[in-house]
Amino acid sequence: MVTDDVGFDVLVTQARLEQWLVDNGLVPTTYPPTTPLLAAWGHVSLHGMPTQHCVDGTWVDAPSCRVSPCKAAGVSFAIVELDQYVSEARLERAKVVDALDRLTSRLGSFVSSCSDDLALIESNSIAEMARLAQLESIIQHDVLNREAHAAWGEEPLRLIAEIRRAYQALTELAQRSRANLVSPAFHVTRGRGRRQVPLLDAITQHLCKNGFSYGEVAALIDDGIPGDEEGARERVRKRAANPERRSLVPSPEDSEPSGNK
Ligand SMILES: [Zn+2]
Repeated sequence: MVTDDVGFDVLVTQARLEQWLVDNGLVPTTYPPTTPLLAAWGHVSLHGMPTQHCVDGTWVDAPSCRVSPCKAAGVSFAIVELDQYVSEARLERAKVVDALDRLTSRLGSFVSSCSDDLALIESNSIAEMARLAQLESIIQHDVLNREAHAAWGEEPLRLIAEIRRAYQALTELAQRSRANLVSPAFHVTRGRGRRQVPLLDAITQHLCKNGFSYGEVAALIDDGIPGDEEGARERVRKRAANPERRSLVPSPEDSEPSGNK
């Protein structure tokens, strides 16, 4: 069960962005083989902080891309952002959920295999507590060793209840976690009366700040909202103008948002 809702079809958008890199010759077909994702990471690194590296004992400037605005950077940053916060996060979180499932399953088997012992301890505990209540009604309270009685009565009862509660809580946590593999920070929410789509904003901003027109962005990212092209362009314009959502930006930022398309 996957209920993550980030406001757009991530897989389709990823595929379109990766195809853009391929169509524009940015995914080398020479050996060694690479993938659009690796090519995107490669181009992102070309827009990083200017650095130098050592070649045969001489320090030289690391390769960099100074194209501005650079559409390849817009697409590459968008692909990397999607990978980091959706694909990779999903894979990593899925492993944790698998571990939770295994833990729950083993704990369930353990609790089940001990059911006779648990039942015996529980019934004895209840009987012990009844005996204590009876004693309290017939002898002096200050001679009763309540601590010793508790070890036979309320303590085992409480511990068994905690074991059952932990098993139930783990089961529910595993189910909830599987339904939310993408960080909740990127889920669609309603804030200030408006639908908030932070990841969609971030991807839109990557593209718009790097030379894509609103119409081109609308064609690359399907937000699933029916309507004509004009409406789609207007939604892109609004997302581009929203507060900064990108978690990765070229350094130094060398492009400005487009505002008249
Ligand atoms: Zn570039």
